[in-house]
Formats: sequence, structure tokens, C-alpha cells
Amino acid sequence: MQNQPFNSLNRRVYLDNNATTFPSARLREKWGEILEVSGNASSVHQEGRVPKTILRDARKKIAELLSCSPLEIIFNSGASEGNSSVFNSVFQSAFPKRNEFLISSVEHPSVAKVADSLKARGAVIHIIPVNRDGKIDLEFIKKTVSEKTALVSVMYANNETGAIHPIKEITEIAKAAGALMHTDCVQMMGKCENTFKELGVDYATFSAHKFYSLKGTGFVYIKSSAPWSPLIFGSQERARRGGTENITGIAALNIVLDEVANISDKIRHMTKLRDLFEKTVQEKISGVSVTAKNSPRVCNTSSLVIDGVDGDTLLMSLDLKGFSVSTGAACSSGSPEPSPVLLSMGLTRAEAQSSLRVSMGWTNTEEEVLYFIETLSEVTAKLRAMGEKEKKDANVC
Ligand code: PLP
Repeated sequence: MQNQPFNSLNRRVYLDNNATTFPSARLREKWGEILEVSGNASSVHQEGRVPKTILRDARKKIAELLSCSPLEIIFNSGASEGNSSVFNSVFQSAFPKRNEFLISSVEHPSVAKVADSLKARGAVIHIIPVNRDGKIDLEFIKKTVSEKTALVSVMYANNETGAIHPIKEITEIAKAAGALMHTDCVQMMGKCENTFKELGVDYATFSAHKFYSLKGTGFVYIKSSAPWSPLIFGSQERARRGGTENITGIAALNIVLDEVANISDKIRHMTKLRDLFEKTVQEKISGVSVTAKNSPRVCNTSSLVIDGVDGDTLLMSLDLKGFSVSTGAACSSGSPEPSPVLLSMGLTRAEAQSSLRVSMGWTNTEEEVLYFIETLSEVTAKLRAMGEKEKKDANVC
């Protein structure tokens, strides 16, 4: 699939790195070694000692990266599990004294849906608005937090637009009301300089497949003072997350974490590609705007509105030509409904339906970006011409 020649580069071009990434080159090199590690970390024999060492190393590396204690890290299956675990933990410890939760209107469904599920158990959910630039309404948070607030949860960076939220400031507001603070850091790792320590949050959730490691592996940061209740019971992870550890995933993560720790060159590379893309695409194609352009954004993401084309049709046409992009969150792609995230930012239905997300990765090249723009320009012109013709035909009838 990867090698089918579809475009003039004779290979597929993957520009959907916010949906998932492919294992890094270094990880692929070490793959054989990783598969050798298949013992159970709970066993006391030789086969158990090797995975135990890997678990300890990976936990230590994460702790160094986040400037926290290794005891504040729990491995799990990914950020959806992490987000559910955080909300359930806070609800169990705070209810009924504190039963209110604040989440932003642009959270990933794994946050929005777990928050929604708590309503049936007596929680009140406040949705924090964001403006058209993706900027969160800090005044709303200040006005809404109170002695009833259990948790404020705002994602570090949005998966659709790349807009970065001022987590440190939000944490300060939450703390002043005695509330706990969570941030979904899925779109931070592998594309941002490490400023985690400054955020001051109680909980943060991470997913390995978003930064060039394997699916089904993730971890949660839990401040030692923050409450925690397991979602899955068992003895592993100090009884905080049961289930035999996914040692293959954690061994892979252990390798990629070294690359994440030295991210500056990769950030420079992706920023250059994104800036080149946004400048050139607007020069070559009329009626293109970049959503959340006036917000601080992660270095790899461009969310475009392309006037007069349907995003899903565009996506399918580009796919046939060998380019992988997205119209919104991976999980909602394929749905004819426009992105709720873009709608909540104040884009019209027509604008949201004409959106396209391009997310660069560590190994994309300038050549790929320029070929992509060439193809996007051709396909856009064709779809716009077809749309015009349909309008004329409809008028004739
Ligand atoms: N949070 C954000 C912002 C995401 O982009 C995603 C994945 O799309 C998730 C959470 C869910 O992560 P996982 O695939 O590890 O469950």
C-alpha cells in the first residue's frame, strides 16, 4: 500500500501525522531486538528481569522528560484510556462535594464523551468556549470556577487546528479555586519543545502512536498529591492499572523517547515545511484561509478552509492521487457531518465542510510538500469547475 506509485513522486505521501505516525526509522532498525523481549515483567526469572529493566528505564526517561518522579507515571493503552481514568478518578474522589467539571469546546471525543457520561452520575459539565482563532475564553473559566469545581480539563494543543492553549494560566485559575487540572498532551510530544514542568498540572495524558511509536501504548502523569482510582484492577503499576504490561509497546517507546528528548532539529524542519506549505498554497490557490493562524500553534499542523470545495470529496480525490490528509479528527473522518471542533470555533457549516487538515511529520520533505500543493491546486480547480457546472445546470432546469 505504502509503495504504490500514485503521483509524480512515485510513492504515497503521508500528511496525516496528527491522526497517527509511523514507527520512526530508529525504531524499525531495533525492531528485531524489541521482539526478543517477550517475558512477563512480573516474573522473577531471567525472562522477567529484562522487561522489568525496560519498564524501569522507560519510566525513568519519561520522568526526566517531564521533570517528575517515576512514581508519578502509569503506563496504559493510550490517551483514550488515560482521559477516562482521570475523569473517573476525580469524580470518585470529589463527588458530591465538588461535582462540576470544565472542559473546552474543542476537546477530543475521548474527553468530551467521558465528561458527558458523568452527567448521569450527578456531574455538571461547563463547556469553555474558544474563538475563531482557537483562543480559549479565560474570562469564562475565571467566572465559572468555584468551590464546586472538581476538575478543569483543557488540551495542550488541538488535534485539528494545532492551536496551543495557555495551560499554565488555566492551571493557576483552577488552583485558585482548589480544583484539579488535567491536560491532554497527545498533540504535544514529538512536535513541541518540552515545557511540561511549567504547566503545573495534576494530570496529563499521552499516546505513543502520535509520536512515532506503537499503537496501544500510552502513559499518564499523575501528580503524587492527586487522587487516583484504577479503571482496570490488578496488581501491576502499583495496583493503579491492572493488566500485564505491554512490554513490546513500552520497549518501542523506550527507543523513541530518546528521539523525543532531542526534538529541536525536528521542530525546525516541520516548522519550515508548514510555513512553506501555508505561504505557497495561498499563493497558488485563491480562496484559501488558515484556521487559527493568529494563535500559537504546534509546528506541523495546517487547517485550511478552501472555498467552494467539499472537504470529503477533496480528501478522496487526493487519496486516489497518493496523498493522505484529513478533514478533521481521525475518528470522525468518513462522517458527512462537519467537524464539531471547527463549528464550535465559529466557522460556518459551509466553511467547516470545506476544511482540510494537513499535518507534517518528522520525515516529510520539501519536495513532497510542493508536489502536494501542485496536486491540491489541480484537484481544487477541477472540483470548483464541476461545482460551477452543477450550479449552471441547476439554473437551466
Ligand atoms: N486526545 C487527542 C488530542 C487525540 O488527538 C487523540 C487521538 O486522536 C486521543 C486523545 C486519543 O488517543 P489514543 O488513540 O491513544 O486513544
